[in-house]
Amino acid sequence: MKVYVSADMEGVCGVTHSAQCRPGHPDYERFRRLLTQEVNAAVEGAIDGGASDVLVNDSHFAMTNIVIEELHPQASLISGSNKLVAQMEGLDESFGAVFFVGYHQGDGEGDGVINHTLMSATIRRVGVNDVVVDEALINAAVAGELGVPVALLTGDDRVCANFSDKLANVQVACVKRAIDRLSAENLPVHEAHRLIREQAAIATQRARAGAIQPTETRTPVRFDIEFRSSSAAQLCTLFPTVERTGPCTITFERPTMLEAYKLFWGLGIVGTAAMNGVFTPLP
Ligand SMILES: [Zn+2]
Repeated sequence: MKVYVSADMEGVCGVTHSAQCRPGHPDYERFRRLLTQEVNAAVEGAIDGGASDVLVNDSHFAMTNIVIEELHPQASLISGSNKLVAQMEGLDESFGAVFFVGYHQGDGEGDGVINHTLMSATIRRVGVNDVVVDEALINAAVAGELGVPVALLTGDDRVCANFSDKLANVQVACVKRAIDRLSAENLPVHEAHRLIREQAAIATQRARAGAIQPTETRTPVRFDIEFRSSSAAQLCTLFPTVERTGPCTITFERPTMLEAYKLFWGLGIVGTAAMNGVFTPLP
């Protein structure tokens, strides 16, 4: 069975500030290695549980965070941010399970560490079919449409609780307890890795046994997006089927989750470009 890993960074043990996850910050080189080690723990667990192949998709910011020469030798890596399916690029029906590593709570949902939804400077809130969703739930719906169940999520206590409330039979590895959006009590790093490996092995075995159902999403799929700026909402109406519902809000509907996800990702890119003027050079 093939396992697909979508790896974000804010949910990694030790991370408590988004600056630690940004290239150029003095701590970034340390934290990208901690991310790589957590991914390796998940890959080891997948192999323990009987996985034949593992594909890892670097899914944070510029999506060039994972240190490939330190990645588990049995894992392939998708690297780089120009993707059509963003955090779920490369997933297809041939996979038997999806893992979310280093995930985090959505914006406005609580006090989870670095809670945000995909593009923190641009997007305030996302709804799918009238339900407010975080990245994990959006991505689980994409995987579900391809018939692939999410078997494991790792991150802080908040995202783990949200996800296991919404999805049946998913394994979680909670590597830190959120105190505030910018502070947490972290597990000892080696204990975090041990826990991820253990839960990944159980998750893989459960997926192989057919014990986890793929997420189902009602179609057509409607997205409601609240941006942080009216400029973002305004420019998104350049695209067919996108309707403005308020100064900072838009809605659209697409026949499938995958089509809706791609439009959502595209509108996030356009909305981000709109924030400072599309042809304004960045400082
Ligand atoms: Zn991220």
